[in-house]
Amino acid sequence: MSSTVASSTFQVISQLARQPAVHRAFQWFHLQEMQMREWHRQVASIPAPPFGEADRARWVAEQFATLGLEDVGIDDCGNALGWMRGAIKVQPGQEPRASRPCTLFSAHLDTVFPAEAIGQPVQEGSILRIPGASDNCAGITAVLGVAAAMRAAMLRPENDILFACNVGEEGEGNLRGMRYVFTESQFAARIHSAVILDGAGTDTIVTQGLGSKRFRITISGPGGHSWTDAGIPNPIMILANALTAMGRLQLPGSPRTTWNVGHIEGGTSINSIPQRVEARIDTRSTDSAILLQLEEHIHDAVETAVEEANRTTRDLPSESHGPDPIQFEIATIGERPAAALRKDARILNTVRAVDRHLQIQNHVSTASTDANIPLSLGIEAVSLGGGGSGGGVHTLEEWFDAAGRDLALRRILLLLLALAQSES
Ligand SMILES: [Zn+2]
Repeated sequence: MSSTVASSTFQVISQLARQPAVHRAFQWFHLQEMQMREWHRQVASIPAPPFGEADRARWVAEQFATLGLEDVGIDDCGNALGWMRGAIKVQPGQEPRASRPCTLFSAHLDTVFPAEAIGQPVQEGSILRIPGASDNCAGITAVLGVAAAMRAAMLRPENDILFACNVGEEGEGNLRGMRYVFTESQFAARIHSAVILDGAGTDTIVTQGLGSKRFRITISGPGGHSWTDAGIPNPIMILANALTAMGRLQLPGSPRTTWNVGHIEGGTSINSIPQRVEARIDTRSTDSAILLQLEEHIHDAVETAVEEANRTTRDLPSESHGPDPIQFEIATIGERPAAALRKDARILNTVRAVDRHLQIQNHVSTASTDANIPLSLGIEAVSLGGGGSGGGVHTLEEWFDAAGRDLALRRILLLLLALAQSES
């Protein structure tokens, strides 16, 4: 683990940690936990269902402005943004500030819950109970905490840091907030590294983005009466045949690859041949090539089952059907690229050096997060926890415990400061 930290990176971190302003920021984390709990409660009380993050984004933008970030606003995708300008003096003949590399520091705004599910937060000592408490109000609070501590400590990064609380991380949000930042925003090309906070915790480093692709399969036909129209192909049976064929696929354990049918809907009544059936399929893999193969297999299975059904009807009397009565459609309803950080990435070396300095026993892991987007574009990114601990994520019993939050905030701050230094 720490044996792989380059000694020069470790020195950079040690030097940063010795600066009086960094000490002051660390003090702020320690002394202002109550302020962070207040923010945490407030933001968690504002519902932010997928595609309904606007209220929470506005609240975050207000805090960004109060904390002295510059050019605060909400972009066309709904992301709340604010800049911390770097201290570097740009010399004549050097790259202008507006095109210098910057670091993105972000946390997603959205929850998996509908607005009605949120309710009132319950605070029991350091524990906060409310859906979304950890995922991702822990991340949002940590973003605010770092901005506040830097301001209080008069600590400026060398190069610009873009603070962001973005939309669309969960479910069918499909990472649209991050996609926008990295592909459509005017500063997309400037971002050379990204530190993404997602959930609670201090010791994980997500370096590998789990890829996923989701489909909606629809099979439709003329339908009819179960007795008088018997023989007309049954879309539910065809879907069952396709799913059975998919179930026979041998999926690799490494790179780990999975598929799931999670939802089926269709049919009219027990004595009707259905006109339509629909299934939703989730596929995941750490390897994008395997994911593509799996997609081909799914298409094959559906096509074969439908073709089989249409073939049998060609022998029936022609008034009961058209030439090919059964139709199908496979729509992509979500896609997250699989990608991994290089083992020798600067950002990974830096997190490891920070963890060695702070004596954090880290472990790397794979997850589907906002980091999938920069990683798939070849931009260095990690996803980290916003401190403390949590549980019941994506359930109504979700909780967050702020005990020990400041260790993660020190970790995040040192990482950001190191990444915002010009590469030598
Ligand atoms: Zn999350």
